[in-house]
Amino acid sequence: MPFRSIVGHRRLLTLLSRAVARDTLPPALLLAGPAGIGKRRTAMAIAEAVNCLKPQGVVSGSSRTESEAASSRTDSGAAEFARDACGECPACRRIHRGVHPDVIVIEPGDMGSIKIEQVRDVIDRAEYRPFEGRRRVVIIDEADALMQPAQNALLKTLEEPPSASMFILVSSIPDALLPTVRSRCSRLRFASLSTSEVTEVLRRDHEYSEQDARAVAVDAEGSVGRALQAESIDLVEAREGAQRLLDYTARAGDPSRRLDAARDVTAKKSTSVGERDQLAACLRALGSLLRDVSILSAVGDRGLIGNSDLEPQLASLARSFDSKRSASAYAAVDEALAALERNASPKIVADWLVLQL
Ligand SMILES: [Zn+2]
Repeated sequence: MPFRSIVGHRRLLTLLSRAVARDTLPPALLLAGPAGIGKRRTAMAIAEAVNCLKPQGVVSGSSRTESEAASSRTDSGAAEFARDACGECPACRRIHRGVHPDVIVIEPGDMGSIKIEQVRDVIDRAEYRPFEGRRRVVIIDEADALMQPAQNALLKTLEEPPSASMFILVSSIPDALLPTVRSRCSRLRFASLSTSEVTEVLRRDHEYSEQDARAVAVDAEGSVGRALQAESIDLVEAREGAQRLLDYTARAGDPSRRLDAARDVTAKKSTSVGERDQLAACLRALGSLLRDVSILSAVGDRGLIGNSDLEPQLASLARSFDSKRSASAYAAVDEALAALERNASPKIVADWLVLQL
């Protein structure tokens, strides 16, 4: 995937493409930032831009002045990047399919860790000249899963990588890496995507309708990965459960009847997902609904709400949940989510929460 097809991260991608064009890319990079936002895609795009047979953009970066480069950045498409892969030549296609001999991706195995044998293997291969590409690119995805001996084995290579090889470590928890590994890599910090960027990726790459993509993206905290994971938990069911709970608590003051509502939310409907994950999804949906309710009751601006398809129902809830009640309910949901993360029992958390709403 070329740089121009990656959604978001424009500033970092521009820097990277310029470094590729000028051949000044550091030999060891650490792409750090939240999970599911395109870091691995960026690593693949670097490998393609370096090894593409018909690269686009201005290849001889040195012949351009800074002002020329700056003016071309305002253009759309390939001109935005000093050098980008074509995405179609045999090299690009092989990299994309994971079969290019000079682009090696290592990632955690079944046990969730990257072992020293995997690292030794790539270190050995990195010693040789590239087979057909300009530069060998070793991508270590979820690098925080490197076992400590594997990290130690990498140190010397990261310090003085063979001239025609480069290493790209990708991690959402870079601080789990040894300081000695981190200090040998140039770190690039990736930020979360915006809601509209997540929507765009879901539509373009995952065949979501505009409406579904938007509904999922609102609660994805700027991460496509999180949006896709939430979907497998059955976000629709979670949001319906959250809505029922709000409807119920808006009317019922009686604690024992409220506890019945809690039972409804914790009842396990899906066999593939744990009770804890499903409740957490329901609580996040509840938080998102309450946020919308408080917007409607405080400012009444429909344009700002995330769950716009439920606007009539939310407007009627706003009559029971004034801004003070919705704010305290929102805080209670937050506390309930934190308790779930600390491993509190889902049933106890749900029971406690319904009495706070
Ligand atoms: Zn190409």
